[in-house]
Amino acid sequence: MRRIVWWLLGLVVAIAGLVFAGLRIPAVQDLVLRRIVASRMSAAPPGLFDDDALRVLLCGTSSPMPHPTRAKACVAVFAGGRFWVVDTGPGAWNRLALWQVDGRRLGGVLLTHFHSDHIGELGEFNMQTWVAGRERPLRVYGPPGVERVVAGFAEAYALDSGYRTAHHGADFLPPDVGRMEAVAIPGPALGAEPAVVFDQGGMRVTAVAVDHTPIRPAYGYRFDYRGRSVVVSGDTVKDDDLIAAARGADVLVHEAQANHLVALLREEAQRSGRDRIAKILGDIPSYHTSPVAAAEVANAAGVRLLVLSHLTPPPPAALVERAFVRGVGAVRAKGWVLADDGLLVTLPVDSTEVDVGWIE
Ligand SMILES: [Zn+2]
Ligand SMILES: [Zn+2]
Repeated sequence: MRRIVWWLLGLVVAIAGLVFAGLRIPAVQDLVLRRIVASRMSAAPPGLFDDDALRVLLCGTSSPMPHPTRAKACVAVFAGGRFWVVDTGPGAWNRLALWQVDGRRLGGVLLTHFHSDHIGELGEFNMQTWVAGRERPLRVYGPPGVERVVAGFAEAYALDSGYRTAHHGADFLPPDVGRMEAVAIPGPALGAEPAVVFDQGGMRVTAVAVDHTPIRPAYGYRFDYRGRSVVVSGDTVKDDDLIAAARGADVLVHEAQANHLVALLREEAQRSGRDRIAKILGDIPSYHTSPVAAAEVANAAGVRLLVLSHLTPPPPAALVERAFVRGVGAVRAKGWVLADDGLLVTLPVDSTEVDVGWIE
């Protein structure tokens, strides 16, 4: 018996040695790489674009504070063969590209407001989906001021756009298609009825003013598609207009700032003499929503699922995640989830089902 064990152990060591030595040979490296690339290239695209459901993919769940893996604000909504992106936070395009989301199908970008954690990657969303083969200029919806943001990104990318067309040809990358079109949504004011952003192909999107004072206006967005619905809060305090706009929705993606953790960070920043960080941490509780208050919003609106996102501070570990959602369960026992990048909620049409999973 002992002899068999030694023999097996020797065999494992010999195989490991052969593999290790083999991987140092270029021809073997190429063989392995070709296999991996081929399997990636032939992988069926995820069924995000199937016309049987409204789908919500969290492409960025962090806030301005740094995090090793989470991208900043981004929610992608898929329906009827297209997708729309609410906010283009830094790192978000990389997420979608790694998941092989087909950039040609980007129907538009909706900006909630113009803080950098919401707009920082707008230029990449436009450039990369143009290179992927988008067929129309990219519509960018947002509060008044969106024209200025779009013009700024267009100017910053103007030289690169020229390089691309010069290099690949105007047939391949037509300059006119690579443009962005800013669409300012003039209303709604705080306390007013939501404004219709567009209503086409079965998808109706409305904007609601939320309270992110002193940022005015700041919007949340509601998507309605064949009886299913998702609301994205944008950055806001606990807001009655948002509750009204989210009434009866299937999913509410709500920002969440754990003020008890922010207070802890602030105390430590003060103790260690980091005055600028302490000042900012002291200011931000006034214009965000705690996880418990977000749960109260979800309850008041009667939504099926609350997704806590735009996490401040973005939890770096499971222990912090538990501390982050402290008290939420007492307000809302079920029907909520703490988001991470890649969370995918599927809402089949002609159904009340809410399927929570992760993109592959
Ligand atoms: Zn903000
Ligand atoms: Zn933000």
